[in-house]
Parts: sequence; C-alpha cells; structure tokens
Amino acid sequence: MHTVPCNPSIAIYPGSFDPITNGHLDIIKRAAKQFDRLVVAILNNHNKNPLFTVEERTQLITKVVEDLPNVEVEHFSGLLVHYMENKEANVIIRGLRAISDFEYEMQIASTNHKLSDEIETFFMMTLPQYSFLSSSIVKEIAKYNGSVKDLVPPAVEQALLQKYKSKD
Ligand code: ADP
Repeated sequence: MHTVPCNPSIAIYPGSFDPITNGHLDIIKRAAKQFDRLVVAILNNHNKNPLFTVEERTQLITKVVEDLPNVEVEHFSGLLVHYMENKEANVIIRGLRAISDFEYEMQIASTNHKLSDEIETFFMMTLPQYSFLSSSIVKEIAKYNGSVKDLVPPAVEQALLQKYKSKD
C-alpha cells in the first residue's frame, strides 16, 4: 500500500487569538495531550483590525502556555496550508462552540482540504462553561470596565486593563 509520509504528531492550532481566552487555553491543554507537539499559530491578518499586535499576542500566549512543554507559539501570514507545508504538519485543530461555529468551520476545513488533501482538521468541542466565550465578548466587557477575571488568564486581564487605560 502506498502511504504518504507525514508527521501526525505535530498539530497546528491557528486563530486570531485577539486575545487568548480560557476557552482557547482549554483547547490548547487538551490538544497538547494528544500530539507530540502543538503549535499555536497566530494569523497575522491585515484585513482585521486587531486590538493586540501580533507581537503582543505572541508574548501573551507564550506567557500563558509557559508550563506546557510541548506547546510552541508562532505567527504566520498568508495561507495556512503554505505555512503547514513549511512545517511539515498536516493536522489542524479547531474549537467548536455552538452550532453557529459549524458552518464557517466546515467551509474553511473543506477549503483547506481542497488546497492540500493531506491536511485534516480535527474539531474539539469546547467545555460547556466556555461555549459563549469569545475574544470579541472579552474585549467588549473590558472596554466598558467589566471584569474579565474568569474569562481570560491573569496576564491577559492585565494586558486588557493596560490597553483600554491607554485608549482613554
Ligand atoms: P478565528 O479568527 O480563526 O476564528 P479565534 O481566535 O476567534 O480565531 O478562534 C480560534 C479557534 O478557537 C477557532 O477554532 C474557534 O472556534 C476556537 N475558539 C474560540 N473561542 C473558543 C472557546 N470559547 N472554546 C473553544 N474554542 C474556541
């Protein structure tokens, strides 16, 4: 049987992470147990207008995952499949919260698979307590001085406080 050489033990978790939340972190911790290496890959998307620069997001995630030895943090621009070819990785991890995520996720998973048929997307269901948590909601709460203590890691809470203080 012809088998395609691959390295199934590297998984890539791509996203905007603007900023990383406890929901993302839960997916990272659980995915890291299933693969030898997990790379959190921050998309440097010039179309979006992020609150945190890609460097700030890299620093924050690096801090938050410092106790997870097989988790690395990188950023990329352009197509995810090209980035993955460079890394010789073929597993994408995505988190699913509610049915509302499903259509969008299915669209990008099929597109990525079309672009490279060696790439598989693995979906992980969020824990119920994170199913309504998103980076946008966190930013909205922080912007109006609400507490995001239970929604994001402490380093992110601090960074949000600083960011909105400097915007005042
Ligand atoms: P993107 O702009 O690529 O959707 P996000 O940072 O919003 O980037 O999300 C990255 C991934 O993490 C996506 O697969 C998203 O569904 C997942 N995700 C976001 N929030 C949560 C959460 N609360 N629980 C589990 N997965 C989540």
